[in-house]
Amino acid sequence: MLPVIVVHGGAGLVGAERLEGSCRGVQEAALAAYRILQQGGSALDAVEEAVVKMEDNPMYNAGCGSVLNELGEVEMDAIIMDGKTLASGAVSAVRGIANPIKLSRLVMEKTQHLCLTAEGASRFAKAMGVPEVEEESLKTDYSRKRWVENLAPGSNPVESQMYGKSVSVSFLNQNRGKMGTVGAVAIDSQGNVASATSTGGMLNKMAGRVGDTPCVGCGAYADNLFGAASPTGHGEAIMKVTLCRLILFHMEQGMSPEKAADTALEYMKTRVQGIGGVIVVNSSGDWVARFTSEKMPWAAVKNDQLHYGFYKGESFTLPVSSI
Ligand code: ASP
Repeated sequence: MLPVIVVHGGAGLVGAERLEGSCRGVQEAALAAYRILQQGGSALDAVEEAVVKMEDNPMYNAGCGSVLNELGEVEMDAIIMDGKTLASGAVSAVRGIANPIKLSRLVMEKTQHLCLTAEGASRFAKAMGVPEVEEESLKTDYSRKRWVENLAPGSNPVESQMYGKSVSVSFLNQNRGKMGTVGAVAIDSQGNVASATSTGGMLNKMAGRVGDTPCVGCGAYADNLFGAASPTGHGEAIMKVTLCRLILFHMEQGMSPEKAADTALEYMKTRVQGIGGVIVVNSSGDWVARFTSEKMPWAAVKNDQLHYGFYKGESFTLPVSSI
């Protein structure tokens, strides 16, 4: 099996000044993960490595660079899933660690549970020897600025949904500016697939809000029989349609990754007014990056070719040897 890695850097709005950095970051993450696959490493190790690279990159809403909640705190969600066994591990609303994806893997491998949250997740991190980091080190000037700008009453998307306000075009536009996540899917030379996703969530979310990311079938899904998917977008909408499991269901019914991704994203858009994006690989190694948002930085490596894009319909290719 030819190994494949696909990564995304989130479907949120990216200003012109951050465009180049966010495109470079996904390429670096994909190439680092591809090196693992090339050396016979597992899909699980590859997706973890790709996500760690993006959590460490302040350009993205995950790890360092996460958006802040309504109280100005960093609360992060992450998930990893192994398509061989359907094992998965996740953390939600976790604080004070650099790499929630590594903690998710520890939840998967060292506990009987699928998800640990908040203080319990932090206690588990401590017990596993995961270093604590100062919350301030996870914040950036950009995340602080956006938090202040979005403190205006009524700008909290989760609240708007909770109180059942009518969903308008401006609601969709508001959410566009508040999203962002990182994710990776891979298939290794053994034919095993894996998926990993990590996020700071939605900008100015309520404290304690848990999004789609740590929920199996929503924030990730991987099953060797069909493939793997990782999403980005309005978490509440993703949860309502269980986006990743829906994509795998469509592939199980015979759809290509592209058709499955488009069908599921269109359903999410029309049924619950949710926009977002997904990366998908199937069990034959066919892959796709699709989105209903305006932009989504993504990169993929297969057969020593790096593919990448940002705007809809855009795709560039470079031989890995030339990079
Ligand atoms: N899905 C993430 C969340 O709602 C945000 C994103 O992907 O942009 O937490």
